Amino acid sequence: MTYDAIVLGAGAAGMMCAMTAGQRGKRVLLVDHADAPGKKILISGGGRCNFTNLHTAPDRYLSANPHFAKSALGRYRPHDFLALVERHGIAWHEKTLGQLFCDGSAKQIVAMLVAECGAGDVAWSLGSALSAVEYRDGVFHVMIDGQAHAARALVLATGGPSIPKMGATGFAYDLARQFGLSVVQPRPALVPFTLGADDALFRDLSGVSAPVEVRWNKVLFREAALFTHRGLSGPAMLQISSYWQHRTPIGVNFVPDMPVDWLLEEKRRRPQGSVRQALARHLPERLTDALLARAEVKGELGAQRDAALRQVQSQLSNWPFHPSGTEGYAKAEVTAGGISTSELSSQTMEARRLPGLFAIGEAVDVTGWLGGYNFQWAWASGWAAGMAL
Ligand SMILES: Cc1cc2nc3c(=O)[nH]c(=O)nc-3n(C[C@H](O)[C@H](O)[C@H](O)COP(=O)(O)OP(=O)(O)OC[C@H]3O[C@@H](n4cnc5c(N)ncnc54)[C@H](O)[C@@H]3O)c2cc1C
Repeated sequence: MTYDAIVLGAGAAGMMCAMTAGQRGKRVLLVDHADAPGKKILISGGGRCNFTNLHTAPDRYLSANPHFAKSALGRYRPHDFLALVERHGIAWHEKTLGQLFCDGSAKQIVAMLVAECGAGDVAWSLGSALSAVEYRDGVFHVMIDGQAHAARALVLATGGPSIPKMGATGFAYDLARQFGLSVVQPRPALVPFTLGADDALFRDLSGVSAPVEVRWNKVLFREAALFTHRGLSGPAMLQISSYWQHRTPIGVNFVPDMPVDWLLEEKRRRPQGSVRQALARHLPERLTDALLARAEVKGELGAQRDAALRQVQSQLSNWPFHPSGTEGYAKAEVTAGGISTSELSSQTMEARRLPGLFAIGEAVDVTGWLGGYNFQWAWASGWAAGMAL
C-alpha cells in the first residue's frame, strides 16, 4: 500500500498530525503497536487530561535550543485546541495556573482525536509489530506485520521511553539514529526524587505535603511538595526534577510566605511558647518534628538567642536536600532530551538532512513544564508537521 505519509505512533502528537494532514486531503496511515490509540492521554491528569495550559510560552519548555519551539507554539495555540474541544461539546474547566482539564473524562479527548482522524480518512494499523523501516529512492518502506507499506513521508511520533509498562519505547531515537539524526541524551523528567540514607528521616513522612518554594541553581518553582516512602514528589519536586543534575543539591523553602525575622517576632509575642509550636503553626506537625530533629534549638522561644532563631529561619528557608537519584523512567511523566532540534526545521519538524522525514511530540528534544504544556507541544508540533506533509 502506498500513502502520502506514514505516521508512527498514535499518541497525542501522531493523531494531531494524521488528522491535520488527512483533512488536507493527504492519504495517511497511522501505526501503533498498542491495540488502542492515545493510552497516555487516557491516564493523564488523573483521568481528566490536563490538555493544555493558557500560559503556554516557549520559556516553559526545556531544550538544547530554547528558541526551537517558538514557531510551532506560536502558530498553534492553546485557544486553537480549546476551540476544537468546544466544537466537540467537551465540557472543561480551568483548575489552577492556567491548567485546562476535561470536566468528564480523558476518553473524550481520545474520542475527539479519533473522530477528527476519521474526518480525514486516516487509515489505522493498531496492535501492529513494526519491523524494518527503510528509505530507498525517495520513498520510506515500512514492514508492518509482515506487510510492506510505502510513503514519501515518514513521521516519528512514538514519544519517549517514560512509563515502559504502558508500551513506551526509545524507538523514535533508534530510527532517528538510523537516518543519521543526532539525539540529545534522554533522561527521565517530571519525576519523583529518591532520598538516600542521610535523609532517611524524611522518608518516614510519607503522605505529608506542604506548599514550598524549591530551587535548583536559578530555577525556582512555588507549588506543593509531597514526601513519599522513597523521597520527594508533588508538583514542586516534579517541576524541578526536569532541571536537576545528579549529585547536586536542591534548596527547599518551607516557609515561603513568612516575613524576614518571623521567628524573632514570635519570640517577642509568645516568649513562653515553644519553638515547636511556632513552627507547627505554619507547617504540618510531622514535618515540624523532622525539621526540628535536625535544627539545634529546643524549648521555649524566650530562652533562645536571637542568633539561634535566625539560624533556624535561614535553615527553614533554604533546606538542602541531596537526592540520591530519581524514580527513573518507570515513574517519569515525560522524557527530556530526544531527537536534536538542530536536525529539524522549527516551521515544519522536517529533518534537514532527509526531506520527507519528520519528528514530533515527546520524541523531540522539547520538554514542557508540568500542567498541560507537554500536550500543547504535542498538538502544536503535530499540527505543524501535518500542515507541511
Ligand atoms: C501518567 C502521565 C500523566 C500525564 N499527564 C499529562 C497531562 O495531564 N498534561 C500534559 O500536558 N502531559 C501529560 N503527560 C505527558 C504526555 O502524556 C506526553 O507528553 C504526551 O503524551 C506526548 O505525546 P506523544 O504523542 O509525543 O507521545 P505518546 O502520547 O507517548 O504516544 C506515542 C505512541 O507511540 C506508540 N509507540 C511507542 N513505541 C512504539 C513502537 N516501537 N512501535 C509502534 N508504536 C510505538 C505508543 O504506543 C504511543 O501510542 C502525562 C504523562 C504521563 C505518563
